[in-house]
Parts: sequence; C-alpha cells; structure tokens
Amino acid sequence: MSAYKEILRRAQSYQATLGVVSKMQPDEKVMDIYQQGQRIFAENRPQELQRKQSLMPVDIQWHLIGNLQKNKIRLIMPFVSLIQSVDTFELAHSINDYANKINRRANILLEIKISPEDSKHGIPYHLLIESLSKDPWSALSMINVMGIMSIGSLCSDQSVTRSEFKTLRQHFDELKKSGLFGSQFTVLSMGMSSDYQLALEEGSNMLRVGSAVFEDK
Ligand SMILES: *Cc1c(COP(=O)(O)O)cnc(C)c1O
Repeated sequence: MSAYKEILRRAQSYQATLGVVSKMQPDEKVMDIYQQGQRIFAENRPQELQRKQSLMPVDIQWHLIGNLQKNKIRLIMPFVSLIQSVDTFELAHSINDYANKINRRANILLEIKISPEDSKHGIPYHLLIESLSKDPWSALSMINVMGIMSIGSLCSDQSVTRSEFKTLRQHFDELKKSGLFGSQFTVLSMGMSSDYQLALEEGSNMLRVGSAVFEDK
C-alpha cells in the first residue's frame, strides 16, 4: 500500500478529512497523488497556490495553510476553498472586503497559536477571545468561519503535543458551544506528518499531511 493510501485509511477510520500538503513537491508527484484519488491539497504560499491551481485539474479543492499578506488576497480568492491561516481580525476583514468585491464567499479557519515555539503563526486563544468580544466579527458577512487550525509543537516528547491537542479540542468545543459562528463551525484542523495519529486520537477531523505522504520510492 502506498504511504498516501495508508494515511488516508487512518484518517478515514476516524472520519477525518485528509488535506495533502503539496508544498515543495514536484508537480508530477502531486499529480500522482491526485491520480490515486486525492482532491484536497494545501499550500503555504499564495503565489505557489495560484501557480499550481492554474495548471492542475479543476476539481481540486485548494487550501491555504500559510501566512497571507493583504496584498496577496486577490491572488487566491477567486478559487480558494478554505483559508486555514487567519489569525487577526484585520486579515479576516480584508478577506471579507475582497469577497464582497468579487461576490464570492470565503471559508476560513482561525489559526490558534498553541506551541510556545516562536516561529509559529496564529493567535493565542486568550487574544482570540478578546478579539471576538471587541471586534465586529459578525459584520463580516461574506466570511464563513468553519473552525480552527493549529500546529502542535515539533518536539520529540509526544506528551507535550498530546496535551496541546487536548487543549485545542477544548477551545474548539468552547467556540462551537458559544454559537458565535453558527452550525458551519465544524472543523478542527490539527495533525501533520509527525503527529497525525496523536491528533486523530485527540479529536482532529482535518489533517494536513505533507512529507509523510510523499515518502514512497
Ligand atoms: C508544511 C505544513 C504542514 C505539513 O507538514 P509535514 O510535516 O510535511 O506533514 C502542515 N501544516 C502547515 C501549516 C504546514 O506549513
């Protein structure tokens, strides 16, 4: 069985969606995974997302999982199916403006910073709660907030990552219960190559797996 098929089988056994992270992979390898049936791919750079989208089959759903600057929003908005990496109200507001302009709704996830590692993007949960109470999120009528995304610590101690995933699950449940984002708030995106099994066990329903999928041969 291919590495891809094995990871897909595990995701499916937890009813989780698998997003394959195609960043830095040659186009032929990405197409090989497509041929095996995969339709959700994720990239971390807007330009690369746009390039791949323009040359790959139109039935692929493209997700953005990396930093999005305001001046890059227009590159991806005509086609992107989920922006997983929204970590400020200002960014959500700019996405909403552009969505209005092209009359196409945008699906987003709120990226929460859980790991103490400095390089990670995302908004710490307490600051998100603060923003939800003070910024006019409900005025962003062209945005669907579908859930949250987060990157666990890349440390060798699995118990650290597991407890981060447990905390994220609690944040997800709390936000869902608040009813702020309505019934579409269903996505808990956590788990990458090194920790997707842990993430599944802790309630992830969307994986973002790159290198482990492409390990074959
Ligand atoms: C690169 C990346 C992934 C996938 O990482 P792998 O370790 O290759 O599975 C997942 N999520 C984000 C946000 C990434 O940037």
